Amino acid sequence: MRVRDVLVRAQAALRTAGSTSPVIDAEVLLAHVLGADRAALYAAPERELTQEQVARYRELVAQRLDGVPVAYLTGRKEFMGLDFQVNPAVLIPRPETELMVERALALLQDLPRPLVVDVGTGSGAVAVSIARHHPGAVVYAVDISKAALEVAGANARRHGVAERVRCLEGDLLAPVPPELVGRVDLICANLPYVPSPDFPHLPRDVRHEPRLALDGGPDGLGVYRRLVPQAARFLRPGGRLLMEIDPRQAREALSLVPAPDWEVFIERDLSGKERLVVGRYKEG
Ligand code: GLN
Repeated sequence: MRVRDVLVRAQAALRTAGSTSPVIDAEVLLAHVLGADRAALYAAPERELTQEQVARYRELVAQRLDGVPVAYLTGRKEFMGLDFQVNPAVLIPRPETELMVERALALLQDLPRPLVVDVGTGSGAVAVSIARHHPGAVVYAVDISKAALEVAGANARRHGVAERVRCLEGDLLAPVPPELVGRVDLICANLPYVPSPDFPHLPRDVRHEPRLALDGGPDGLGVYRRLVPQAARFLRPGGRLLMEIDPRQAREALSLVPAPDWEVFIERDLSGKERLVVGRYKEG
């Protein structure tokens, strides 16, 4: 079979199954099987596939039809212009989370050797992106999941920042060394924030991602509620806390970061949605 034929079949199957992106999914998976990029498919639509390639492709398309995200099937996802390894132990990095990294880099730019904590690092996308784009940053990447930290460590090595991204296993800021109390410049948090009652209504693809990375308890804010007092302990005066949220939680999330200890505002993402809580710790 030729590239063109297998693509047409896969796209039809994905479309029939209700996929919202059948064309691109079929292409990305075929490029993955061929070890090529999508442009190579357009350049050689008549290329003949081996039987083994056809079989591997069918297997991937079948999994995609079951709702397995493309990023888990290819084992990679682009974020902040970098190629990240992912697997089902970690949340797939989302484009809206780039807002947090951009804000972080803007806040850190005048500090030569800032101390950063990325809590709930998952794949390490946020921690590694910050370290890659700020050559002096030292980032403590924390996760409660050992399997996730293995992915984060692999991504730190892949991008040449392993000596500045320190992976720590544990709950929220518990594993951060006590000598960092009162000294951290910035804490980034993309913690689980989906309200548990919303789970049955999540898109099928998202339900393939780790519940540990998504479920934020009854109102979705349970994990952030526990984080804020811990963050106050580790930040230096004037240090910042960035928390990604669901736009529907914006008012409630603001109340977690109260005056007079905090100055706080909310930033919108590129689609205009309230997405990021930015808190400045004022001390006492
Ligand atoms: N934005 C994610 C979603 O699409 C939620 C991520 C999180 O809980 N941190 O469901």
